[in-house]
This record gives sequence, structure tokens and C-alpha cells, in this order.
Amino acid sequence: MAKVSFWGGVGTTGSSKVMVEEDGWRVLCDLGWDRPRSDLYHHPVDPRPGRELADRLRAGDAPWIPHLFREEAVVGTGLAGGSDGRTVLFITHAHVDHIGLIGWVDPVVPIYAAKETIAIRDALNAVGRAAQADPTFELIFAEKVMLEGERPYMLPMEAGRPLSFGPFTVTRYPVDHDVPGASGYIVESRGRRVAYTGDIRLHGRHTDWVKEFCHQARGAEVLAIEGTTLGAKSAETEDPVTEAHVDYVFGQILHNTRGLALMTLRPRNIERIEAFDRIARSYDRTILWSKEFAVFLKAYGIDAHMVTYSAGQLENIKASPNRYILQMWPKDIPWMMDLSLGPDSVFIHADGEPRLSSPAGRSLQRWLAQYHVPLRTIGSRGHGSPKAIHQIVEWIKPQVVYPIHTHAPELLEPSPPTIRIVPEYGRRYDV
Ligand SMILES: [Zn+2]
Repeated sequence: MAKVSFWGGVGTTGSSKVMVEEDGWRVLCDLGWDRPRSDLYHHPVDPRPGRELADRLRAGDAPWIPHLFREEAVVGTGLAGGSDGRTVLFITHAHVDHIGLIGWVDPVVPIYAAKETIAIRDALNAVGRAAQADPTFELIFAEKVMLEGERPYMLPMEAGRPLSFGPFTVTRYPVDHDVPGASGYIVESRGRRVAYTGDIRLHGRHTDWVKEFCHQARGAEVLAIEGTTLGAKSAETEDPVTEAHVDYVFGQILHNTRGLALMTLRPRNIERIEAFDRIARSYDRTILWSKEFAVFLKAYGIDAHMVTYSAGQLENIKASPNRYILQMWPKDIPWMMDLSLGPDSVFIHADGEPRLSSPAGRSLQRWLAQYHVPLRTIGSRGHGSPKAIHQIVEWIKPQVVYPIHTHAPELLEPSPPTIRIVPEYGRRYDV
């Protein structure tokens, strides 16, 4: 009988890794960076450059899975490296906690993902090259981790078309999260099925995709579901703002703003970027992207005007502030001194850096107060509400559900006859 085990996302948000094994064959879903369980590494105490994976393995901060990583990446750890030809990897989406360690995977191990996920990982290479060539180019932590190791060789996987590997049949289905390419997988072996949601929500642009995934997974023996919001008590968690509402409010703010608009959002939230670009055009405004965003977006295939803060560009912005929106990266905030800002300007925080609760976010708020610029917060989360998570379990009605990617797995309470098991790290459970 197949066994399922969890090598991340156990008692923590992020870093889900779901492995299904049968007769010595392995299907692994996701291979992200783990929040350090050892507590040995906190920036600037980082794993040593070039040997990050081995250092994390030795500290207990990476999954101890044999025949997955390159031989040279696991030297000194005692873990068997190099493919055995019976291991395959599937990626749900291009966030660091799901894809962060794939630069260390043995090239003989196939890595499958949606073509959008591969395009994002490829575009990151352009970001990495730009950072090497320009010391003022700012990489965020997630990008640094995602660029570790060698450039991975990934294979595009069509949605809904089953793929055979050893005793397994694996099918990918698109789901909704705040990054393109987000997928759930169904792993079947000898007529028994393990379904894995990846990260998922019901308040985004593609709720129909989630419903279709649930339909396909209906009655699975095992469901592994993310539960990020379980246990988080806030109005926003209980009743999340939809992406459609974010778009609407963005338009309203532009409608009511006579001066310059500044904003921050997440570079890999491509659908929101495309929606904002459309809305900005309808208000006759051009978005000027930081070079960090512009390099990434261009490499992904999106036309992006870049902010240079050259004298000529600053003059243009000052002459017609209502024609522009400036996306600001944290290090660009001091340029606010050279822009004509005031109460008729606005700063739109649509998720992204800096987080308002961080020291940099508090500093941003002081800059805004200094120049009397109103702050509008209009984000939407990538993770379903506790109600949505329960609804998805109800739609799938698995025999057993394992809540992962959450601090509060015990708060998932499925209705009978579904049984909920809070998984232990690395323990193998019968499917
Ligand atoms: Zn995640």
C-alpha cells in the first residue's frame, strides 16, 4: 500500500512537502525553503554560500529525502544524493516556500510544473543576472533563496492530462492562489488517490478552477490541504477581500487622486499587475516600475516602463503628477524627497514590501506623514479563509484529511465520516 508523508509545513505556515511512496518509487510534491526549525540561522547568520543545502540539512532545516539532490550538494551530510531513477518532483507554484530548494535537485530527477511556474522561475534568472551586474539592484530574501544552486531544468505539465511514473499516475489541475500557475495535484496508485491542494483560496479570480479540482478529487483516500488562516482571528481572515474588490478600490483611488500615486505590490502577483496596468491606462496614467520589477516583468514577457529617477524623468513626473503611478521598492523610498508630494498624492499598499508591521514599513509610514501623503491599504490574501478551507474539504469529502502549512492544524474540523489527522514530520501514513 502506498504511504504518504510530510517533510515540511508541519506545524508551520509554508514549506509544504508531500511525498507519496510505493514499491521504492517516490512522488514528491513541492520542495520549498523551510523556515529554520533549528533556529540556528537568522540573517546575517546564514548558511555558507555554495553549500546552503548541506548546511541546512545538517541543521535539520531541509528535508532528509534520499536520491533527490545532486551528489555534490549533500557532501558531508550522510544523505544519499543522485537520482535512483525512481523519484519525481511536482511543483504547485513559484513561491519560495514551495520551489525554493529546486536548484539543488539532481538533474536526472524530473521536475514538472505549470508553464507559468517555469516562466516565473526563468524570469528570476534575469533578476539574478541584473543583481550580479548592478550592486544597487535589491534582491529580496525569497529571490536569493530561489536562485540558489544550479539553474533547474523543469518540464511543463499540461492541466488535466495524467502522467505515468512507476506505479503512479499524477494529474495537475489549476487552482487559485496569488501567483500564476498555481496548481493542485492528484497522485493515484493502485486505485487509491492522494490529493494535494498546494496553496488555495476561494476569493480570487478563479474559484471555478478550485471547484473543478475539488470535483476531480472527490472521495480521495487522502487530502493534504493548506490551512494558513486556521487560528488567525481577524475580520480580514474571516471575510477576505476579493481580488475583484482590490481592482475596484484601486480604480476608485485613482479616480479621486489628483496628484502622484505611489504604490507597492508583489512582483509575482502577475494577474494583479496586469489588472492594475489596465486600470491605470483607463485613468490615463502610466505605471513606472522599479528596476527590480521591470527586469522581472520584461523577462516574463510583460511590457514595463522603468523608473530611472533621472533629472528628465523627475521633471516629467513633477510637471504631470496625475499621469503617473510609481511602484516603489523599499530602497527607493528616499526618492520621495525629490517628488512633489502632498495631501493630493496617495500611497497605495496592495501587499508587498515593505510590510507595514516591519521596521521598514514603520519607516515608510513616517515618510508618508512627513509629506502628508495619505496611505491606502488594499491587499487581498492568497490563502482561503477558515470557512473556505472547510468548504474545500467538504467538497472533496476525503477519507482522511491532513492539514499542513498552518500553525493551527487542530482547528480543521471536518464533518464525518472524514477523519482529520495532524501529521508528524517525516512519519509515513498508509494511504
Ligand atoms: Zn505557501
